[in-house]
Amino acid sequence: MNTVVPILRERGQREVFCGLTGIIWLHRKIQDAFFLVVGSRTCAHLIQSAAGVMIFAEPRFATAIIDERDLAGLADANTELDKVVTRLLERRPDIKLLFLVGSCPSEVIKLDLSRAAERLSRQFEPAVRILNYSGSGIETTFTQGEDACLAALVPAMPARDESEPALLIVGTLADVVEDQFKRLFNEIGIGPVAFFPPRKAGENPAVGPNTRFLLAQPFLADTARALEARGAVRLDALFPLGEEGTTAWLAAAAQAWNIPADRFEAAIAPGRERARQALARQRHLLDGKSIFFFPDSQLEPPLARFLSREMGMTLVEVGTPYLHRQHLAQELALLPAGTQLSEGQDVERQLDRCRAAQPDIVVCGLGLANPLEAQGITTKWSIELVFTPIHGYDQAGDLAELFARPLTRRMKLVA
Ligand code: SF4
Repeated sequence: MNTVVPILRERGQREVFCGLTGIIWLHRKIQDAFFLVVGSRTCAHLIQSAAGVMIFAEPRFATAIIDERDLAGLADANTELDKVVTRLLERRPDIKLLFLVGSCPSEVIKLDLSRAAERLSRQFEPAVRILNYSGSGIETTFTQGEDACLAALVPAMPARDESEPALLIVGTLADVVEDQFKRLFNEIGIGPVAFFPPRKAGENPAVGPNTRFLLAQPFLADTARALEARGAVRLDALFPLGEEGTTAWLAAAAQAWNIPADRFEAAIAPGRERARQALARQRHLLDGKSIFFFPDSQLEPPLARFLSREMGMTLVEVGTPYLHRQHLAQELALLPAGTQLSEGQDVERQLDRCRAAQPDIVVCGLGLANPLEAQGITTKWSIELVFTPIHGYDQAGDLAELFARPLTRRMKLVA
């Protein structure tokens, strides 16, 4: 990429969800985990409305509301928290992993949730493991909630001392996508392969110096650091979005396993062909269209790479809350020369730039989407890109369609 265009760094008002949002996809993934938010009524409202319709007979997240209190009231808050957890775990023997999730209110910040987790662990282990992390909007954007959760789960991974290498895929993927990747790795000849986070608390994979890991999501800086501290080695790769990204991601593992090129090619050929055909069906809808990314999910750089290189879109601005240069090095190298990257946000100034550029489509958070739509600008909610399975060959067409659909809808409205 042309490094002449300086990265725009902004520190101003931000329009993003907080890390509590990650609970929505994490509670679906880890099937015997429970997320107890220690927070305010606002927090309870956020996760209830973001979760939408509850599809479980028994919910797997809740909010323990801590009202305003002075310092003397903190001891009571700890006692209350212990009571809430005890009641919950007595009533729900299906819970094997409990996360105490911190939030913004000052009353919660004053509470030491890591000590609470230790105290409660002594009471409930080995039946239930109790961990804590922060989903506070002061510290996290919405995908960082997953990073904080997974980083908290790393110390609970058993030690692996086998001498043969094992592959760990890191980051929440839909079960169907995991199964596809499992089959592909098997056909390529890579194994053993484990996925993190696990589907069940008791299946937390082992980690050690012979673990090689591939990040499936670009927002897992703390998790990667925690895995590296356990001796695991990250395989540098593009992220598995689109045909090109998926091939490069799989190839990074194949290279680490010294898989012969012909075997690798034979294993990926059918999936790659399906992806190419699916993308060809969408390309004419996106080719030549311009796109503007507001910073939200940290998925923006790999999405921009996919949309520009495989779908022919023009990148007006690629905003991201944080730019992890090391994890994104390969992605950044493939962005077209002159791409304007921005890190952080000053929302009013960014809105001015966006309105001036009049892009064909804008990727942004829910808070900005409606006002922009009202001004005649087509939008795509970035949160959908986290909720929808988009990784791998068989989802490449769906990923392109997520951008093509709003553009087609707008064209129909205009016509
Ligand atoms: S954690 Fe903070 S930003 Fe998130 S809902 Fe609670 S109060 Fe709001």
